[in-house]
Amino acid sequence: MKLFAPIFALLLAASASVHAIAPADCWSLRKHGSSGKAQDCFDTLTRSASAYDRAEGFWGLEEWEQANSQFRLATQPENANPLFKVRWGMLLHERFNDSDAADLFQEALAKDPSLALAYLGLALTSENGFDIHAAEYAAKAAALDPKLAAPHELMADIALANDDRDDAVAEADKAIALESDALDAMAIHAAVDLLADRSPDAWLARIQAINPTYGEAYERVGHQLELHYRYEDAVTWYRKAIEADPQLWSAHSALGVDLMRLGKEDEPYKELELAYDNGYRDAATVNSLRLLDSYKNFDTFRDDTTILKLNKSESALLLPYIQPELHTILATYEKKYRITLPGPVQVEVYPNHEDFAVRTTGMPGLGALGVTFGEVVAMDSPSARKPGDFNWGATLWHEMSHVFILTATNHRVPRWFTEGLAVHEEGMRSPEWRNRVTPDVLVAIRDKKLLPVDNLDRGFVFPDYPSQVIVSYFQAGTICDFIGEKWGEGKLLDMVHSYAKLATTPQTIQQNLALTPTQFDQQYLAWIDHKYGAEAAHFDEWREKLKVLVAAAEQKQFDTVLQQGPAVLALYPQYVDDANVYELMALAYKARGSAQSEAAILTGYEHAGGQSPDLLKRLAILEESAGQPDAAIATLERLNYIYPVKDEDLHHDLGDLLYAQKQYDGAIREFNAALASNPVDKAGAEFDLARAYFAAGQKDKAQDSVLAALEVAPGYRPAQKLLLQLQETPTKSN
Ligand SMILES: [Zn+2]
Repeated sequence: MKLFAPIFALLLAASASVHAIAPADCWSLRKHGSSGKAQDCFDTLTRSASAYDRAEGFWGLEEWEQANSQFRLATQPENANPLFKVRWGMLLHERFNDSDAADLFQEALAKDPSLALAYLGLALTSENGFDIHAAEYAAKAAALDPKLAAPHELMADIALANDDRDDAVAEADKAIALESDALDAMAIHAAVDLLADRSPDAWLARIQAINPTYGEAYERVGHQLELHYRYEDAVTWYRKAIEADPQLWSAHSALGVDLMRLGKEDEPYKELELAYDNGYRDAATVNSLRLLDSYKNFDTFRDDTTILKLNKSESALLLPYIQPELHTILATYEKKYRITLPGPVQVEVYPNHEDFAVRTTGMPGLGALGVTFGEVVAMDSPSARKPGDFNWGATLWHEMSHVFILTATNHRVPRWFTEGLAVHEEGMRSPEWRNRVTPDVLVAIRDKKLLPVDNLDRGFVFPDYPSQVIVSYFQAGTICDFIGEKWGEGKLLDMVHSYAKLATTPQTIQQNLALTPTQFDQQYLAWIDHKYGAEAAHFDEWREKLKVLVAAAEQKQFDTVLQQGPAVLALYPQYVDDANVYELMALAYKARGSAQSEAAILTGYEHAGGQSPDLLKRLAILEESAGQPDAAIATLERLNYIYPVKDEDLHHDLGDLLYAQKQYDGAIREFNAALASNPVDKAGAEFDLARAYFAAGQKDKAQDSVLAALEVAPGYRPAQKLLLQLQETPTKSN
């Protein structure tokens, strides 16, 4: 969305002579809805003797290129007012070039470090990417020029994105006290009212009295509603924005993106194209149009309760895994949350991470694996990530939890709670999918950086430090683990119901757990300390000892690795990422030829949630040769949730194991997957499938597959033999 009406400092009036019009006057006319007069005013400016005035004039007339050239001219003299660069930066920010804009703000600050508006510019460019510095820059701008309303409007916007409603209202009030026409601050007030299900009419009336065509106010409200999961309501407000100002292209684009989130295709295309054709070409508009275009590369699979959109290149492979899992999830959550969804849930799976990223443009949580909009879930395909980085099963259970919780609360739930429950559900599905305590999290626990539960939302959207988002997910998840463990899973559902009735977090905790938020924090932190306190306290020791161990492994000092490994592992057994102790010890055992010990340490790795396909495959081989086919099957089936793509061998080997155990349905699934993986030996893959169908008594399908094998390789003896056998066997109904 377009952020904030152009901000004019009265200081700039100094550039115009006493008789001439100042740019600030023209912008003021625009802000108060006098478009015709503003137009004349800007037009006059374009004929000014000052390049800077001309730049503002062309900007006001939306002649971007001309405005840009005049700014270049105005800023050329060595002694040019540094504010010209700030205004130029604001123009570039408005025209989707935040990186050059930020450079201009920094150049202006190099000349005059006390330029409040330059800091405001930096805050605006940071806000677009949910950058950790946005709030800091805005505060700096407010401190440098205490009379300026805009930094407070921006701080109000950021606070509300973090769902800190008290702060948002306080900052909005400061802005209005400074400038009685602070329209964006009034819009924040309206958004706060709507989020609390109160009427925003009083604020809307004030905005309309100042400028009835100020569509940006409605757009701002829509944006905040979207950030608070109120996607349907956001549509309403973007429409109001367009009604107030039909040429507000940013609102057309925002409407298009929001409608896409709701699973629509035709209207989004129209709205986005309209914005694009009128020169509104920010990343979200351009990329969303590209994404709509790429939908032709997707297959859609529908049944009564699900719509699955899978890329044509991998739909045959993924459908047999994702569709049944989705049905298991629906059945589990329907029982647990005691609701059925109002309509089918749509799940889109993107093999290209960039396409998926487009789906999340303008939403917090960059680098996310999945995202939920109402009844639409978009997620990465395993093929979009590095093997071992990602578990699509865990992501699907996570996102589907959001679908149920958003439905159960009518989209009125704080971010921390729905994220926490979603993380908790991953761990309920499998302890190996539990959110692991990563080094970042341990450091945060050690340094006492966990947030009070009442403020936890602050850690998700505009974090204070880079790893805070990850830490907040962990904290929210473990809060739900703690509640489930101490009060029972049913309490979590009771809390869902409290939120549905618009209770705040302190009220929800008091009502259901009979504790104040402070008491709750104390109990939770004690529980965390009991669980992870030792690991956190020994974190530095662990890191140093691990380095020594890695060095020993690199020099093939396997005795050292095996002697020191167990003690290092005991310091932090949940660590399964790069250079973990399990892997180092497994390599040492392998070098020693101790298969049994190697299998034991890799089993520990598997149970701790380790996901490296290479290590898990190695474990499956060890299990199989130790005469434990069931364990080998279970290990390889774990891999189907991690990286089932581009791995013909996985499906082939798992199919063989299942076939040998007479688990023919599973064998058929895996041999089909091998066939869908573009195998080198296509005839062999068809034949494998034929014999599995035959063993399962599905003669017709067996015959189809064996004929397919012979079509590829007519002289293929085992296939010829099977065909003969099929023709000799009397037909059973199948
Ligand atoms: Zn989530």
